[in-house]
Amino acid sequence: MKKVFPLIVVLITLSVIGILFIQMSWINNALKLKREEFQHEIENALIQIKDDLQSKFIDNKTLIMLTKGARESFLRDNFTTQKLSEEEVRQIIDKDLRRNNIKLPYEYTILNIFQTPLFISPGFKLQESASAYQKDLNNPDSDMNQEKLYISINEDKNLIFREMGWMIAASIVFTCIIIMAFAVTVRTLFNQKKLSEIKSDFINNMTHELKTPLATISLAIDALTNEKVIHDADKIKIYSSMIKEENKRMNKQVEKILQAARLEKEEIKLNLQKLDVHQIIAKVTDNISLQVQEKNGGLSLKLNATNPIIEADEVHFSNIIFNLLDNAMKYSTAAPQIIVETLNTGNGMLSIKIKDNGIGMDKETLSRIFEKFYRAHTGNLHNVKGFGLGLSYVKAIVEAHEGKIRVESTPGKGSIFTVILPTVEKA
Ligand code: ADP
Repeated sequence: MKKVFPLIVVLITLSVIGILFIQMSWINNALKLKREEFQHEIENALIQIKDDLQSKFIDNKTLIMLTKGARESFLRDNFTTQKLSEEEVRQIIDKDLRRNNIKLPYEYTILNIFQTPLFISPGFKLQESASAYQKDLNNPDSDMNQEKLYISINEDKNLIFREMGWMIAASIVFTCIIIMAFAVTVRTLFNQKKLSEIKSDFINNMTHELKTPLATISLAIDALTNEKVIHDADKIKIYSSMIKEENKRMNKQVEKILQAARLEKEEIKLNLQKLDVHQIIAKVTDNISLQVQEKNGGLSLKLNATNPIIEADEVHFSNIIFNLLDNAMKYSTAAPQIIVETLNTGNGMLSIKIKDNGIGMDKETLSRIFEKFYRAHTGNLHNVKGFGLGLSYVKAIVEAHEGKIRVESTPGKGSIFTVILPTVEKA
């Protein structure tokens, strides 16, 4: 299965290149054919001009009734264009060229054996006569001086291209469509592959996350049923609070997955009400500060906003603050120093900054943290758990509140997450 994917990509690439080559050679052949057709048309026109000039010569002599043989010998002995008028010659050349589909501008001359023009159109350049189309006007066995017709056609080099334009354009369009469809297919295949990797990562993560509390609960229950413990009220309290804690942890994990699932179905229903951001921050930090202290860290608040009132959903908004603070605490090697700062920015917006002195993120991580299931390789922080869902949830909720989220970070130094939300009047 692993080898099928690159094989398909190679096969399709080769096929597209092959089709391109075949198409190019078809177009090339078609161009060649067009050129040959043009040559053929000119040759036909020259033959017809010669015939028509000769017929006109005979007409003028009123010798129409001649037999074929007599006509041939009469022409052999007498034909010269000098007996035709300028107008007659011009009309014949014009008519025969048009009849053969040659509608391009042209110049012509008829030269006698001494290279003296008998007829010449105003634009014909004698020095270029070698490159013009040529036709002997006397039959080969004629006794008369050989007269030669020269036609120089102002060939438009791009004409053939223009005539075949639709064909070239269509093949370019179709080729582009094939290449685009191919690119989309390859991208979809890659995405599918990435998705299945993400899925198995997620399942691994989830099993791991739920297994630990389950194992602790199972051990605690075993202990509770132990003869020595069953009569010791203090121990029962300790074990049951352990079970409660682990239960809470599991609940939190399940809730995170459910949050993500709800986002997936675009089911964000906001119960909007006026909220004092400072109050919510105080409530959430209360819950988290114990854990920060356990890690010998510190959490300080700089609530400088004069108008901290926003219209928001209390539960979702509390989750946002909690997720950002939880990350600030999780992704630090040393004792976490977290600062929460609020500020009113001039245009009726409120900015909430959460700064940490944690491990920080590189550019690649920064560009992906808001993707669902994305988790950076946290190096030696093996114990940092998560599903990679927290920030995608935060972003979706902030945007649902018509806000924005920004992040700045320096690897090894720390990160600053800034949430910007519109404020409302206090009253
Ligand atoms: P989780 O924390 O469950 O992995 P998140 O969506 O909350 O998922 O975060 C995604 C990733 O962003 C994390 O795995 C981590 O690599 C990175 N990250 C988030 N917050 C921080 C932070 N404050 N400092 C450093 N890295 C962070």
